[in-house]
Amino acid sequence: MSERSTAQTSGTAPPRGCGNGTPTRRSRRGDEIYIIDPNLCSDCVGFYDAAACQTVCPVECCLPDPENEESEEVLISRTLKLHPDNTELRQKAQANDFPSRFRN
Ligand code: SF4
Repeated sequence: MSERSTAQTSGTAPPRGCGNGTPTRRSRRGDEIYIIDPNLCSDCVGFYDAAACQTVCPVECCLPDPENEESEEVLISRTLKLHPDNTELRQKAQANDFPSRFRN
């Protein structure tokens, strides 16, 4: 999968991102936009009830892409893969008790 600009990300797409204080830190900064690797973005499922990057973005972006929807199950699985040593996260996932934008 190729990288996407924040205007094209799936599930949720973030600008700034994952570089400053967000859980997965998988985006990188371009010249004028932030780019997110969709394989490394989990929409913050497991950590927050919304995309953390949305809260710091000065413009309206990081919006779900209806043509690339991903389920909560797919996203929590990705979060677990990205954070294999996070015991608390794993416990929350096993208990099906974790923050997610799907549960707002
Ligand atoms: S939605 Fe969450 S995981 Fe994805 S880029 Fe934004 S802060 Fe990172």
